[in-house]
Amino acid sequence: MFRTGIGFDVHRFAEGRDLYLGGVKIPHGRGLLGHSDADVLLHAVTDALLGAAGLGDIGELFPDSDPRYKGIRSTVLFEEAMRRLTAAGWRIINCDAVLVCEEPKILPHREAIRVSLAQLMNIDQTCVMVKGKTSEKLGFTGRGEGIAAQAIVLIEREG
Ligand code: MG
Repeated sequence: MFRTGIGFDVHRFAEGRDLYLGGVKIPHGRGLLGHSDADVLLHAVTDALLGAAGLGDIGELFPDSDPRYKGIRSTVLFEEAMRRLTAAGWRIINCDAVLVCEEPKILPHREAIRVSLAQLMNIDQTCVMVKGKTSEKLGFTGRGEGIAAQAIVLIEREG
């Protein structure tokens, strides 16, 4: 049995924060604001996986009103989502994702992000793709106010 899931997330830029994308710390003048480390890409992928498996969503599992998750690395949340997926018998086939932002440029960091996501998902790097797109200076991403992320996954289990 195969299932697909999609995920979407947005975080705004903030001064004095580190930038994490797909579990990778990206050298950039500023980071993203959030209750966790605000890894917008990992949040989108987490939601895609949870959605595909019918296991809820990231805001439901890890509410930002819960002080336990304040400042937490999104990799920790992702690993918990992976545990739930695995326990339900699912394995991941592939993941594709888009980061929408003017800056930073994603291409120089793409391979590092692919390696990180592949490790987190326990799949081969060739099964993960990430690309950066600008929004042609339009909207909040175009004005450099934040980053949007979209992700799609395919998962499989027996029966
Ligand atoms: Mg988020």
